[in-house]
Amino acid sequence: MSRTYLGMPGSHPAASRAPFPEAAAASTQDAQLRGNLRHATHTIRAKRAKAVAELDDWGALRAAGAAIKDRTLRHLDHYLERLEESVTRAGGTVHWAVDAAEANRIVTRLVQDTGEREVVKVKSMATQEIGLNEALAEAGISAYETDLAELIVQLGDDLPSHILVPAIHRNRGEIRDIFRERMAAWGRPAPDGLGDEPRELAEAARLHLREKFLSAKVGISGANFMVADTGTLVVVESEGNGRMCLTLPETLISVVGIEKIVPTWQDLEVFLQLLPRSSTAERMNPYTSTWTGTADGDGPRDFHLVLLDNGRTDTLADRVGRQALRCIRCSACLNVCPVYERAGGHAYGSAYPGPIGAILTPQLRGVGGSLEASLPYASSLCGACYEVCPVAIDIPEVLIHLRERVVEGGEVTLRGSKAVIKPAKGHAAERAAMRAARWALDHPGALRGGQRLAARTRRFHPKRLPGPGRAWTDTRELPEVPAESFRDWWARTRGERGEK
Ligand code: SF4
Repeated sequence: MSRTYLGMPGSHPAASRAPFPEAAAASTQDAQLRGNLRHATHTIRAKRAKAVAELDDWGALRAAGAAIKDRTLRHLDHYLERLEESVTRAGGTVHWAVDAAEANRIVTRLVQDTGEREVVKVKSMATQEIGLNEALAEAGISAYETDLAELIVQLGDDLPSHILVPAIHRNRGEIRDIFRERMAAWGRPAPDGLGDEPRELAEAARLHLREKFLSAKVGISGANFMVADTGTLVVVESEGNGRMCLTLPETLISVVGIEKIVPTWQDLEVFLQLLPRSSTAERMNPYTSTWTGTADGDGPRDFHLVLLDNGRTDTLADRVGRQALRCIRCSACLNVCPVYERAGGHAYGSAYPGPIGAILTPQLRGVGGSLEASLPYASSLCGACYEVCPVAIDIPEVLIHLRERVVEGGEVTLRGSKAVIKPAKGHAAERAAMRAARWALDHPGALRGGQRLAARTRRFHPKRLPGPGRAWTDTRELPEVPAESFRDWWARTRGERGEK
């Protein structure tokens, strides 16, 4: 059985650490991918707009969501301690993981303690972020994804490319082929003569997954929210697979980022309105599962909550960047982003694609790597992401802030230790150009002389820039130098005073 998706972390052929422009160069050439993405994102964005327009108080809800998240993040230590007390009181066990390696170690040990070699999984961004499937595979444990789209990705030996619809880059024909060719290697094979009708594909997945649900003794999930007051975890989903994983196994392990906390059920109510309309354009989620610790004869006997930091407290320390921690992973920003629509999710090189990935990944990992330093530039700054974000994250503001960090260089805090940002080559050239511009603007005489010389020689100017500037003119015309500079025009038409 070939299970390269469960292989060594980072070993997946589609897992790219290349800078965004390099990774996107390949995907933008893929007409099939662009077509799939355009169709899917335009459909979802239109539905979302309709669902949101139904509510007169959407603006107030959005402001409330942002305010609740900001208040909670300001007192995060307090609410996390309250959550730990509540979960423990309800019969669960809380584990703290400072980074991905520690979280993977904890989960692997917990599964090993049960003696099981297989687990079923609810769709979870946090476990993708830490590469849990790969870590479990190294320990000889098979993790089965049970969300339909995640199943397609796993069987296709692929990587997710969208937060909500991980297989958005696949069309029906491709999914049918994946099921036909790969299902048998993972368990129950695809039915004979499987076609590409959604109903047939869903039925094939249902039959395949049912065996897993009924045999698995360990379930692994994330959570959309955690209520500090009662220690309750919440998962919202559309298919019911999550409900099966959360209730049938004897042991449940939930890996959740520390920012997913809300203080009370009243606060939760705001997000249960914001999330479904922004993500699936529904008034409420088909399945909203909540659980609080353990209960005799009802659901898992053991419940473990692994609270994941992995760069979140560093992000919290950044006054501008911390707003990224409000994110409720609705994916509305992906569906309106012109860059995501053309580049696809894989180009972002992490579990978090699109505009939110462009601001979250560089903050969680630091901007020292060439991929991470390139992500804040993966945007046209059109602001569509901010317009649709249900918790009002000003993504363009954070992008500019992160660009500043990349260009300026200097020290950033990374996982508790000091790391130096190395500006990429292109950024060094940009800095040199800015220095030259500053010098020229500081010396008006030299600037005037340069402008006159440029005007007189304009006939000989090249159409493209040489050297490092070449890439800039690959896709743009070099602006023409006017025959007369503004200063000369002013002096000629308004007299000497204009020269001053
Ligand atoms: S940044 Fe906003 S729009 Fe994007 S996924 Fe997060 S909550 Fe949704």
